[in-house]
Amino acid sequence: MSDLSGEEVARLHEEYVLQPWAKQGAPATPVKRAEGIYFWDYDGKRYADMSSQMVCSNLGHQNQVVVDAIKKQADELCYIAPSFAVEPRGKLARLLVEIAGAEHFQRVFFTLGGSDSNENAIEIARFYTGRPKILSCYRSYHGSTLGSAFASGDWRRFAYETGGAAPSFVHFLNPSVYEDGFDRTPEDEERCTRQYLHQLEQQIAYEGPETIAAVLMESIVGANGVLIPPKGYMEGVAELCHKNGILLICDEVMAGFARSGKMFTWQNFDLVPDLVTFAKGVTGAMVPLGGVIASKEISKFFESHPLPCGLTYSGHPLACAAGVAATQYYLDNDICAHVKQLEDVLKPRLEEFAERHACVGEARCIGLFAALTLVKDKQTRELLAPYHTANGRMPAIFAELKKRGFYTFGRESNLNVCPPLIITEDELNEQLDILDEVLTWADHEFCE
Ligand code: PMP
Repeated sequence: MSDLSGEEVARLHEEYVLQPWAKQGAPATPVKRAEGIYFWDYDGKRYADMSSQMVCSNLGHQNQVVVDAIKKQADELCYIAPSFAVEPRGKLARLLVEIAGAEHFQRVFFTLGGSDSNENAIEIARFYTGRPKILSCYRSYHGSTLGSAFASGDWRRFAYETGGAAPSFVHFLNPSVYEDGFDRTPEDEERCTRQYLHQLEQQIAYEGPETIAAVLMESIVGANGVLIPPKGYMEGVAELCHKNGILLICDEVMAGFARSGKMFTWQNFDLVPDLVTFAKGVTGAMVPLGGVIASKEISKFFESHPLPCGLTYSGHPLACAAGVAATQYYLDNDICAHVKQLEDVLKPRLEEFAERHACVGEARCIGLFAALTLVKDKQTRELLAPYHTANGRMPAIFAELKKRGFYTFGRESNLNVCPPLIITEDELNEQLDILDEVLTWADHEFCE
C-alpha cells in the first residue's frame, strides 16, 4: 500500500501535522495496520487497544460489515446535501430514535463528531427554551469547539479562556465518590448524593431557573476517569431539571453505543433526557459522525420554527451508511449482552487489583467502561498525579504498559480500561495480566 518506511511516516507527522493537545514535534508511533482489538507499528510490534483508541473503536478495527457498507455507499452516492432525502440518513435516524425510545424521541440532527453534537445541542436548547445559560460539570469534557469547550470543565477549557470565559456557561461540581472521601457503601453514596444535589439545587436557585436553558452532563463522565455517580444522583439531577423547566442534555459521545452494557448509558438510570448527543461508537469510529437525538416536544417545536443550525456534511451518506451498519451490528450480535458478560470478568479483577496493589486507590467498572484511580498513599488517598501537576508518574506507567504491548490512556491519576467491545474473555485476561505486572512495578516505583 505504501512505500514509505516507518521512520518516514513518523517524520511526516512530526514535521507537518499540528498535533491536538500536545507540544508539537513530539514522537508519534507510526501505525501500519489494525484489526480486531489490535494495531501494529511499522516494526511489526503488536499493541492491544485497551482504550479503543479514544473510546471510539467499539467494534474493534476494520469491522468487515461496516467496511463493506462504506464501500457500497461510496460506489452508489458519496454526497448529497442535507436537504435531500437519502436512504442511510433516514434509516439511521429512525434506528437511533427506536433505540432511545420512540415514545420520548422523534428526530435526529446529524453532525460530524462529539464536539459539534454538543455545540448544536446547546444552540437547540437555547432556542427552544429562550433561555441563555448552560450548566455543566467541572469534572467533564464535552469537546474542543468553542461552545463545547466552554461547557467542558476539566483543564482543557482553560486553553479557551485566554480571551475570557464565555458568558452564560456556568459550572457546578459533580461527585467523584472516591476522591471526595466517600466510600462505596449505601450510606456514603446516599450522603454524597444528598450533598451534591443540595449544592446543585442552591446553585440553580442563585442563578435563577428562568435563565437556565439546560444542564449538560455526560451520562457517566468518561475521559475524566469513568466517574460512576453515587446511587440516585443522576435521577436527582433529572428531577431538579424537570422541576425548573430546564432541559437535560445527556452527552453519550463516549458512554454510548453499548459501552456500559446498554446502548445508551442514561438507560442505566431511571430518567429520560430531552436531548441526547452521540458520536464515536455510532460508526465504531470508522467514519466521523455525531448527532443530537431530540425529544418529541423539541422535534415538534421545530415544525413551526426553523432549526437554527446546519452543517454542509450533516448526515453525510458515507457516514450514515457506516452508522446503519455499525448500529445494526450492535443489535444483531447483542453486543450489550457480551459486554455485560465481560463486566463479570473485568470488574472483579480490577477490584482485586485495588485490594492488592499499593498504587490502586479505587477501581470503577460498568460494562467495558472502567478506570483505576492511582494513588501515592492509599491511607490518605493522595493521588499519584494530583490535579494540575505533571510529575511524570502517569506517563511512566503508560510507557511501561506500551512497552509490553498494552495501549491505553488516562487523565490526571486515572488509568482507563475501555477495550473494544468485541474483545474475548481470553484476550481480556491476557491483557489484565500485563496490567497486573505493570501495577506491581508501579507499587515499587512510587509507593515504597
Ligand atoms: N463529549 C465527550 C463525553 C467526549 O468524551 C468527547 C471526546 N472525547 C467529546 C464530547 C468530543 O468529541 P469529538 O472529539 O468527537 O469532537
